[in-house]
Amino acid sequence: MFQISLPNIIVAYLFVTLAVLFGIWVGTDWKRKRREKRHRRFRLVCNICGVPYEDRSRDPIPPCPNCAALNERVSLRDL
Ligand SMILES: [Zn+2]
Repeated sequence: MFQISLPNIIVAYLFVTLAVLFGIWVGTDWKRKRREKRHRRFRLVCNICGVPYEDRSRDPIPPCPNCAALNERVSLRDL
């Protein structure tokens, strides 16, 4: 019969546990980045008054709600 020692069982248990935790961590981080990227697509910062705002219309040059200046959509990057 196949025999395995107690230290090997403990090592295998720890390895599987760490692999599962690493998978959960990578999965949640990927979801968070995807959600932020989707959210950033609609975020704009006015070039005139600097107010950040959200515009979900398909207008390529949406007006600022604060000063009505037209702002071109540019992708906001991570800092
Ligand atoms: Zn503005």
